[in-house]
Amino acid sequence: MENRAFIALGSNIGNRYDNITSAINCLTSHSEIKLANYSSVYETDPVGYEDQDLFLNMVIEIMTDLSALELLEFCLKTELELGRKRELRWGPRTIDLDILTFNQENIETEKLTVPHPRMVERSFVMVPLAEINPDQSIPGVDKPLNIVLNELHDKEGVRIWKRKNGEDVFEPIES
Ligand code: ATP
Ligand code: CA
Ligand code: CA
Repeated sequence: MENRAFIALGSNIGNRYDNITSAINCLTSHSEIKLANYSSVYETDPVGYEDQDLFLNMVIEIMTDLSALELLEFCLKTELELGRKRELRWGPRTIDLDILTFNQENIETEKLTVPHPRMVERSFVMVPLAEINPDQSIPGVDKPLNIVLNELHDKEGVRIWKRKNGEDVFEPIES
């Protein structure tokens, strides 16, 4: 498959781990999406709108033959299938799937902006991303990931919840 993308997953409603693993299973059930790598699962303090439950967050790396827009559509469809309702921006959600990067492309359309414009200021995204690919370069960001990470001040709000099991195929583990 020709395109490499990183996707951030987050959930803070219901069985958060089930929601995250169901989303990964749904994404990888697509014949044109293949899982290449995944981070540990982190429990994180809510950012932005703070009066809500803790999140589980992780980042996956996929290879895909879909275009970036097709991938976005499939992510949005997966969110809906898992019962996401769009209410409060940055509020509680069953599942959130954000495309962080798509190859080294800069994409700016009405529906999709890549790299994700707020990713570098979010420890809950940068910590898991750096775990799986510390050398990942992000278009428009001229600093290495470890410098970006060092400059973030809320990393104590991001704690390992389930460590990656060391295998290179995602296998949901009991929660
Ligand atoms: P944030 O984007 O700050 O993380 P959010 O994830 O809560 O906020 P959503 O309500 O999930 O925002 O998404 C709103 C819209 O953002 C989506 O319908 C989608 O069209 C658009 N969008 C733009 N760029 C991206 C991207 N890189 N990944 C996912 N959605 C994106
Ligand atoms: Ca988001
Ligand atoms: Ca989103």
